[in-house]
Amino acid sequence: MGAHARNSPSALHRTLNCTPSLVLGEQYADEESSYAAEGSAGHALAEHLIKKHLKLRTKRPVSDYYSDDLLEAVDDYVSFVIGEIEDAKRECKQPVFAVEQRVDISDYATDCFGTADMVIVTDKVVHIIDLKLGRGVEVSAVENPQLMAYGLGVLAMAEMLYDVETVRLTIYQPRINNYSSWDITPDDLKKWGEEILKPRSAMAMTGAGEFHAGSWCRFCKARNQCRARAEEFLKLAQMEFRQPALLTDVEIAEVLKVADELAKWSADVYAYAQDQAIVHGKQWTGYKLVEGRSNRKYSSDAEVEQAAKAAGYTDIYKQSLIGVTEMERLMGKKEFARVLGQYVYKPQGKITLVPDSDKREAITQSTATADFQEE
Ligand code: SF4
Repeated sequence: MGAHARNSPSALHRTLNCTPSLVLGEQYADEESSYAAEGSAGHALAEHLIKKHLKLRTKRPVSDYYSDDLLEAVDDYVSFVIGEIEDAKRECKQPVFAVEQRVDISDYATDCFGTADMVIVTDKVVHIIDLKLGRGVEVSAVENPQLMAYGLGVLAMAEMLYDVETVRLTIYQPRINNYSSWDITPDDLKKWGEEILKPRSAMAMTGAGEFHAGSWCRFCKARNQCRARAEEFLKLAQMEFRQPALLTDVEIAEVLKVADELAKWSADVYAYAQDQAIVHGKQWTGYKLVEGRSNRKYSSDAEVEQAAKAAGYTDIYKQSLIGVTEMERLMGKKEFARVLGQYVYKPQGKITLVPDSDKREAITQSTATADFQEE
């Protein structure tokens, strides 16, 4: 078994929906991002803190990524996991806890293995908890293929010990306050493994099946050049223009539905083309590289200070209050609330049109109109 699975559980949402994407993506180099490195540092710290709570041997990891913000997110997750550990101890005489547990899913899919952030096994429940440290997309645990695959792998081990009744899959995203948990029975999970994971993974490994574009394209290495994805978005441009001359409400709603994804797709293609031009000297017909606008800067603050003072100018400094977050960090949460709590308020957010699936509560039409008029 290599270090990386060819059919990685974390990519299953994509490879099960678009089976040829696995082979298509293999011609591209691995993409490394600072977000991923920060995420790994956060996971390492969470592992250490949970092991410490479990009184297991561990050493505090060191990383340049440990900002206050990351530490706060990790603490939040660790507190949640510790709560689940303590609940499991109360509910079961001999619970099993595994941090950063390697999970093998090869009974269902070749070269498919990964690491579950936290596994808690009691005599009735297998609980898999996944920490996601990104601030981007909210991820749901419901029918989440990555966690379902881990569930199958852990279930195979747990059923040697217990008569498991429930597999619980949880996603914890502390930075965007998202907690999503979903229960499935072992039988239903195995049925999914046999009927979906097994056949579709077999297709993915050979590049068979139909290309199918969707939200999962965002993490596909072929996303910038993929014809199927381009065709999906360009369908919008091919909308049949009928009478009357103005779009109907239904047509505008259709445009809204894809506008967000369309904007992301065009930004992806643009970023790819720009990178090719800057890094690899690629020439795109009708395009050229230019320098962007820039603002004037001092070459040396010290020399500017000296020269301005020598010329008789003294009113050359400005002082401003540090922001709310920085002030809270300076004072600590409690002291901040005591000293400045009464002076802090949260202005109303800008009113935005979002899809029904957004978790925020809808505001009423009259509030929206009144707020708009006040601006
Ligand atoms: S970009 Fe989307 S449609 Fe194209 S191969 Fe990747 S997942 Fe499939």
